[in-house]
Amino acid sequence: MDYVIGSGPAGMACAAALLARGRPVTMLDAGLELEAGREALRTAMAAQAPGDWTAEQHAMRKIPLGGDMPDFKLSHGSDYPYRAATGAPGLEIAVPGVAASYAQGGLSNVWGAAMLPYRAADLEGWPVGLAEMAPAYKAVLGMVPMAGQADALEADFPFYVRPQFEMPVSRQAEGLLRRLERVNQRGVTAGRARVAVDAAQCIACGECLNGCPRDLIFSARHGLAGLRVAGMHYIPNVVVRGVAEDAQGVQLHVLTRAGGQFFAGERVFVAGGVYGSTGLMLRSLGLERAEILDSQYFILPLLGLARTKGVGEEHLHTLAQLFVEIQDAAVDVNNVHLQIYGYSDVLEAMIAQKLGPLKGLRSLLLERALVVQGYLHSDSSGRLQAQLTGDVLRVTPQRNPATRAVLKRVVKRLNRLGLGARALSPLLQETLPGRGYHSGGSFPMRENPGPGETDALGRPYGRRRTHIVDSSMFPTIPAATITLSVMANAWRIGHLA
Ligand SMILES: Cc1cc2nc3c(=O)[nH]c(=O)nc-3n(C[C@H](O)[C@H](O)[C@H](O)COP(=O)(O)OP(=O)(O)OC[C@H]3O[C@@H](n4cnc5c(N)ncnc54)[C@H](O)[C@@H]3O)c2cc1C
Repeated sequence: MDYVIGSGPAGMACAAALLARGRPVTMLDAGLELEAGREALRTAMAAQAPGDWTAEQHAMRKIPLGGDMPDFKLSHGSDYPYRAATGAPGLEIAVPGVAASYAQGGLSNVWGAAMLPYRAADLEGWPVGLAEMAPAYKAVLGMVPMAGQADALEADFPFYVRPQFEMPVSRQAEGLLRRLERVNQRGVTAGRARVAVDAAQCIACGECLNGCPRDLIFSARHGLAGLRVAGMHYIPNVVVRGVAEDAQGVQLHVLTRAGGQFFAGERVFVAGGVYGSTGLMLRSLGLERAEILDSQYFILPLLGLARTKGVGEEHLHTLAQLFVEIQDAAVDVNNVHLQIYGYSDVLEAMIAQKLGPLKGLRSLLLERALVVQGYLHSDSSGRLQAQLTGDVLRVTPQRNPATRAVLKRVVKRLNRLGLGARALSPLLQETLPGRGYHSGGSFPMRENPGPGETDALGRPYGRRRTHIVDSSMFPTIPAATITLSVMANAWRIGHLA
């Protein structure tokens, strides 16, 4: 029996590859789910036309606004994707708004669904290259619905599988894209965002950031039914506390609702997400600390010079509208990934909160405002120190003093593009490391691994049958979105191990 720990994107992709090889697979998962009352709210709204949704239904689903940005992006008003499961070990992450997931489908229940593969250059320093990753991207994209369109991004970021859907972008974003397309050759490549959405049934109700009432945004949870049909045994409500192995096989120490239990099998594939897997493997290997790499996340408002009237009335999706990739060695701005967002009810609430008594300016700002969510390569980003003390994993962020200068160059580069919009540098938010959830690298894969490192199949030094398959084994975190590569890499290991 092969065990897969976790039902997030990594666990799903790894299990699919193992099953395709005819391996017997059991998935062990903490598996928290959306509360029944909220699921009933979602299904009721899915059956109604948006015009019939009541103010009470809307209010139950809103993201609470604390400080400058929402602390946690919720799923239909619930924080269940961030809640600790019964029996979960202690975890203290000193970054507001960051937690591990013990949910069925993991953090893909709240993610932004933005999908872009890594380029060959992004895999520099990895013991695997694009030749190994390309078939894995293809396999994974055969399992995930994707909306996107052919554009300038395709030269550097192939689709691997043609997107099944197109989603219209907002008028605001369309105007910006037209201007960006004119500068495509100057180290800046832009195109429509690629998002993992089953868009055929999308009614553009604008509720994406609160959780799609029709559940059309891909979650790894959706993959479970297919995996079970393919023969996988799924065991929820369990927390794996230790992983041991000998020449005969692996032994897992698992807490169930009935108490402790041991499972034995041939191999184990650890897909607990970066914090879950790092804690589990430090404990299991008798190690005390690891360093987690991060792709620095930042938020930058853009103010358009022209107004786009009636943005609030437009029927649109509120996921990322555009992707902008910057590789401009001439000004030392490399490996920068930007996601441009337009109008959403969340943006409207944030602007209203900032303006306070100046509420009259609200629509004027909304008709000009776009928001950039940006990411840098881990080489330009801060890190997180993970320290195991007793049973508690403490994670502390550590900024990189070089990050600020890189961000300043990004703002300058954007403002020189002639976008018809100004990046508002005084409002630039350089968040704490970890806040963007594009983190990993605590057990980096190496050609010749030493203690605390893994081989190209995710096996920690000294282990033959234990494979870490999530971002914990990435040697670097490139700027482009992380989850497509997490899935592809997990599939690659499941296919080969
Ligand atoms: C708000 C938000 C927005 C995001 N937006 C994007 C985006 O647009 N694009 C992108 O690429 N990425 C995005 N991400 C990141 C993305 O969600 C993660 O990269 C992805 O979910 C990681 O997948 P994973 O399978 O490695 O781990 P997770 O999704 O964290 O899943 C972990 C799984 O392991 C299980 N588990 C953990 N420990 C144990 C244990 N000890 N025993 C049993 N089960 C266990 C959990 O139950 C869960 O099923 C976003 C994240 C957040 C929070």
